[in-house]
Amino acid sequence: MEKDRREFLKIGGISVLGLSALPVFQALAQQQGPRYKPDPNALQGAQWAMVVDMEKCWEEQEKRQCKDCILACHKTHNVPDIPDPKREIKWIWLEEYKHAFPDQAHEYAPQKVKESPFMLLCNHCTNPPCVRVCPTKATFKRAQDGIVMMDFHRCIGCRYCMAGCPYGARSFNWGDPRPYLKTEEINMTYPTRRKGVVEKCTFCYERIDEGLQPACVEACKAKALIFGDVTDPNSEVRKILSDHYSLRRKVELGTGPNVYYLI
Ligand code: SF4
Ligand code: SF4
Repeated sequence: MEKDRREFLKIGGISVLGLSALPVFQALAQQQGPRYKPDPNALQGAQWAMVVDMEKCWEEQEKRQCKDCILACHKTHNVPDIPDPKREIKWIWLEEYKHAFPDQAHEYAPQKVKESPFMLLCNHCTNPPCVRVCPTKATFKRAQDGIVMMDFHRCIGCRYCMAGCPYGARSFNWGDPRPYLKTEEINMTYPTRRKGVVEKCTFCYERIDEGLQPACVEACKAKALIFGDVTDPNSEVRKILSDHYSLRRKVELGTGPNVYYLI
């Protein structure tokens, strides 16, 4: 404490002697050290990816109308439940095969595949067109692990990213979403959004940074969702992808989707 006081008086003395404020601020900044230290337990990965095992998911669907992943995601991220389908906000949603994989669907596909819902989310593309078109860098790719992020405060609501995303993975807040949240259920550790902002799945970066799996992965009782570093040959996702044939959505577009489907 005494040392801190001496350092403060020393810096104050520099100021009194008439030197400009800039070196004083620099000196203070050096005293404080780094303001943000990453959690030592944070999950480490060069490119996060998700494998969705549809067989396991459909097995659970047959037992009950399971929406555990959607509910967990939307609750964790304060996603409003807006009944009007034209204004709905979705981070994870269900879609028929012919809409999810329009380039691969055909009339002779197994009936089960044609009739069962696929769980969809942002693909955290390796070459994301949404990032290229965003004029404010509100949507950007996190360098260390490839997550396609959203900075809600930077978003000006131009919706270029929605036009650029070929997967319909983005939702626009046409109105204030907060009246559609139940006050007692709001997650105070995650920001709510406002009118005129785009949102989407962010692979739960905030949980990854604390060493946790994404909320949907944790919530899935069927263990149908597997998350990991696709560049690591020893990761579970890589082992699954080497042992099973998998599908990705609209790969011909060159976006490099990082969500894989087993059927
Ligand atoms: S799925 Fe759409 S929103 Fe997600 S990274 Fe790819 S282009 Fe962007
Ligand atoms: S709507 Fe927001 S995130 Fe999308 S392109 Fe415009 S500023 Fe970027």
